[in-house]
Amino acid sequence: MTGESTDGENLEPEHAFHLVGHEIRVDILLALWRAPEHALAFSELRDRVDVRDSGRFTYHLSKLEGRFVRHEGDRYELLYAGHRVIDAIRSGVFHETTEVEPTGLGQPCLDCGATLAFDYAGHVGTVSCPDCGTTFLEYPFDPGGVVGRSVEEVAAAFDRRTRHVWALAHEAVCPVCSGTVAKRLVTSATKSEDHYASHHPVVASLDCQRCSFFSYVPVGGTLLAHPAVVSFLYERGVDVRKTPLWRLDFVVDADRVEVLSTDPRRVAVVVSAGDETMRVVVDDEANVLSVDG
Ligand SMILES: [Zn+2]
Ligand SMILES: [Zn+2]
Repeated sequence: MTGESTDGENLEPEHAFHLVGHEIRVDILLALWRAPEHALAFSELRDRVDVRDSGRFTYHLSKLEGRFVRHEGDRYELLYAGHRVIDAIRSGVFHETTEVEPTGLGQPCLDCGATLAFDYAGHVGTVSCPDCGTTFLEYPFDPGGVVGRSVEEVAAAFDRRTRHVWALAHEAVCPVCSGTVAKRLVTSATKSEDHYASHHPVVASLDCQRCSFFSYVPVGGTLLAHPAVVSFLYERGVDVRKTPLWRLDFVVDADRVEVLSTDPRRVAVVVSAGDETMRVVVDDEANVLSVDG
């Protein structure tokens, strides 16, 4: 039963949040998370959560039982839902305002060759060129990814995370809630009109049907794991996994995206390595229909 709630009842979402909406309850979850095996005896838990009034402590602990914390004998154990509360807290999104000033990455701009810069503000990471003003990538990133890393490491983690979020969402699985993601190509990003790829003729809209997750992804960004693309580039000395998104022109360059037809919608993305090119044609859901070149 590890990781499962012992209480089968569904709660209204507002009520579930209310259950953890108290400092003492959050302290209890944090104390259990920090304990070996995420479990403690009542007296140990009580010692680690600094509340003088025993009745008050017991009351708040009882509110977590069954859903966030399992109580068995004298032992209290963190359940999956409790872990998820910790994860949300540790992401830093709710309480940290970490920023990174624009910092050179030592990587050249695909447009003008100047050194690209990374910056982080308002929970958004950005890679742009200070010289020509092109923004190559702008995407949410949690403060937890910034803490304890050099700027180069933050940029590398930002690249890794962004492509994995895109990949999962493109597989129709929400990276946040595991719900179903609807995907389709759109000519304008209605939820975020001035986003970094809005100059592309079309972008892939990835929209969770359950939670608030949505993304507008360059069409090339949906091809990062396609075997034809990966092997074409690999055979020509480009390892897609090790090349940051902002260095992959089929992802960031709007000129690599061509609308072939609108009904049905067919879009081609040109992938190139040196003088050689390959054309990947996708349908309205960014599924690959054909590859040639
Ligand atoms: Zn530039
Ligand atoms: Zn979701």
